[in-house]
Amino acid sequence: MSTFLTSAERVLQTRARDFIDELIPYEVEAEMNRGELSAEVAKAHHEKARALGFVSINMPERMGGPGYGMLEQALIQEQSGRVTNALGWVVSTGPSWITEVVTDYQMERWIRPTVDGDIHECYAITEEGAGSDVDGIEATARPDGDGYVLNGTKWHVTSANLAAYVFFQAKLSDGPNAGRHVLFFVEMDAPGVECVRVPEYSHTYGHHHWEMKFSDVRVPKENLVGSEGDGMSFSHAWFRYERLMIAARCCGAAERLIEEATAFAEQRQAYGSSIADYQAIQFMLADSLTELWAARLMTYETARGIDAGVDLKVQHGQCSMSKLYASEMANRVADRAVQIFGGRGFMRENVAERFFRELRVDRIWEGTSEIQRIIIANQLRKRGAATLTG
Ligand SMILES: Cc1cc2nc3c(=O)[nH]c(=O)nc-3n(C[C@H](O)[C@H](O)[C@H](O)COP(=O)(O)OP(=O)(O)OC[C@H]3O[C@@H](n4cnc5c(N)ncnc54)[C@H](O)[C@@H]3O)c2cc1C
Repeated sequence: MSTFLTSAERVLQTRARDFIDELIPYEVEAEMNRGELSAEVAKAHHEKARALGFVSINMPERMGGPGYGMLEQALIQEQSGRVTNALGWVVSTGPSWITEVVTDYQMERWIRPTVDGDIHECYAITEEGAGSDVDGIEATARPDGDGYVLNGTKWHVTSANLAAYVFFQAKLSDGPNAGRHVLFFVEMDAPGVECVRVPEYSHTYGHHHWEMKFSDVRVPKENLVGSEGDGMSFSHAWFRYERLMIAARCCGAAERLIEEATAFAEQRQAYGSSIADYQAIQFMLADSLTELWAARLMTYETARGIDAGVDLKVQHGQCSMSKLYASEMANRVADRAVQIFGGRGFMRENVAERFFRELRVDRIWEGTSEIQRIIIANQLRKRGAATLTG
C-alpha cells in the first residue's frame, strides 16, 4: 500500500478497481467478437461507470464534470488500464482542454452532452504524410463568408464509429492567419464527411480507427475552437494530459500482468517443481515489479505536481518522462509475462497475449518514444536536471 496516497484517494482507487474487476470477465468474449460486447452489456457498463462518477473524469465541476484532481484521475485511469480490449475506455475523458475557450453555443450543443456521457467525440489530426510532425498537415480551412470550408484526409481517427462529432485540425489557406492551425467541431454526419476505410489494427477493440475524408465540408464560424491560430496549443494540452493518462494505464496493465504471471508461475509445475521456484522466472517477476514501482511513483508524482501547480513546461517534460518510461516498462513486462505463460501466452484467450499486442501502441500514439525523448532532452537543456526531477 502506498503511503503516498491519502485515505480518500485510496477509497477512490478501490472504487475504480472494484469496477474494473467487474469488466475483466468480459475480455475474452470481446476478443473473440471483434472487440464488441452485446448492446445490453455495453450499456450496463456505461451506466455503472456513470453512476460511479467515472464518466468525463477530467471535466471540472463548473462544466458539469466530477472535478477530480490530476492524481485522482491517474488513479482511476490506472485501474482502467488493468482490463484489455479497451473495455476500460468506458471510463471516459472529455476535451477538458477546451474549458477556457468554449462558447455557450458549443457548450450546449457538444460539450454538455459529452460531459453527461450521452455523446462522444473523436480527433482527426494525423494524416498519411504527417504524424509526429503535426505541422506537416495538409488539411485546409478556407474562410468563406461567415464560416469555413474544410478539406483533408485524416488517418487513425480513434472511436470514429462511436462519435457524434470530430475535432478536425487544419491550416488556414487564406486570410491574415494563413498557414496557422485551426481546430473545428464537425458533426460526423455533416455533408462531405465520409469514412474512407476501416483498417484492421493489432488490437481487438470495439473502437475503430477510421481513415476519414473531409470534402468541402462547410462549417459556421461558431464551430471554430478558440481563435484562428490557436489549433496547435489545444493539441499540445491534450497530448500532455493524455501522455500522463497513458502512463497511468500502463501501470495498471503491468500490475495485472505481474499478478497473473505470478499466480500462473506458482501453480505451473515443470521438472517436479513450481516454475516460480526457478530463479529465471523469479528474476523476470522481480524486474517487472521493480520497474512498475518506479513508473507508478513517476506517474503519481507528476500528477501530484500538476495538482500543486508546477510550471507548465516542467509538467510537459514530466508527462513525457512518465509516458516514455511507463509505456516501455509495460511492454517489457508484457513480453516477460508471455514468456512465463509459455505456449499459453501466445493464445488470444490469454491476458498476456492480448496485452502484448495492445500495449505496443502506447509507445507510438500521443507522441512516439522518440518524440518523448526529444521533448525530454529539450527540457533538460533549457531547464536543467534539478528542475525536472528535483
Ligand atoms: C491505434 C492508433 C490510434 C491513433 N489514434 C489517433 C487519433 O485518434 N487521432 C489522430 O489524429 N491520430 C491518431 N493516431 C496517430 C498517432 O498519433 C501517430 O501514429 C503518431 O503520432 C506517430 O505518427 P506516424 O504514425 O505518422 O509516425 P511518423 O511520425 O511517420 O514516425 C515514424 C517513425 O519515425 C520516428 N520519428 C519521427 N520523427 C522523428 C525525429 N524527429 N527524430 C527521431 N525519430 C523520429 C518516429 O518516432 C517513428 O518511429 C493513432 C495511431 C494509432 C496507431
